[in-house]
Amino acid sequence: MPVQVVTAEFARTATRPQEWPRGPAPEVAFVGRSNVGKSSMLNALTRRKGLARVSATPGRTRALQFFDVAVRPTPAARPRTIRFCDLPGYGFAKVSKAERDRWAAMIEDYLRERDVLRAVVLIVDARHPPAESDRDALGFLRDGGRQVIVAATKTDKLPRTRVGAALRAVEADLGLARGEVVPFSAVEGTGADALWARISAVTAPAASGEDGGAGA
Ligand code: GDP
Repeated sequence: MPVQVVTAEFARTATRPQEWPRGPAPEVAFVGRSNVGKSSMLNALTRRKGLARVSATPGRTRALQFFDVAVRPTPAARPRTIRFCDLPGYGFAKVSKAERDRWAAMIEDYLRERDVLRAVVLIVDARHPPAESDRDALGFLRDGGRQVIVAATKTDKLPRTRVGAALRAVEADLGLARGEVVPFSAVEGTGADALWARISAVTAPAASGEDGGAGA
């Protein structure tokens, strides 16, 4: 049974920890290289076309963007709120080193310290082997004990017969189990149900005990 999105709205922008939204809602963050298709994925997942801005100018989003998403995991369930955090894309070359360092510090502080963060969706391009920056991001998240869901997007750009092999190659490259990568296409609208199933599982109240603790 697919997760039903009841409402999805922008909550706030943050560049400093003091600006992170308060409250106990379990959070899921989205990271990936600039232009990988992160905004398109957020819009497809929430079924709101203009929620996250699909940018013509890569690297424009330089703050953390938070969204409140109310979902019903099953038709009979009461809606519950999951917060999404859209992190600035990495690997964008056209900024000064000082600026890049400032973003990196902002993102790393968040990924290290955010206590309601349950999992991080790492988005890679299904067409290419993961970049060094993707491997670095995965290593950083794992070292910090974060649960990572890897999603490979733009599968529509591959011939259908090559999608399986492309996913296996990503899994092998990142040292993941077979079947662990979630295939996704914002253009074809595929993969959202599978990704929601993973997000719903890691944000379920039972996933971290009664007190809403830090989780995996
Ligand atoms: P972001 O910078 O990671 O947020 O990436 P965007 O969502 O802004 O997308 C970057 C570009 O890739 C845009 O031109 C999108 O239309 C395109 N794009 C995003 N997702 C897909 C997809 O699943 N399939 C295809 N073919 N193009 C996509």
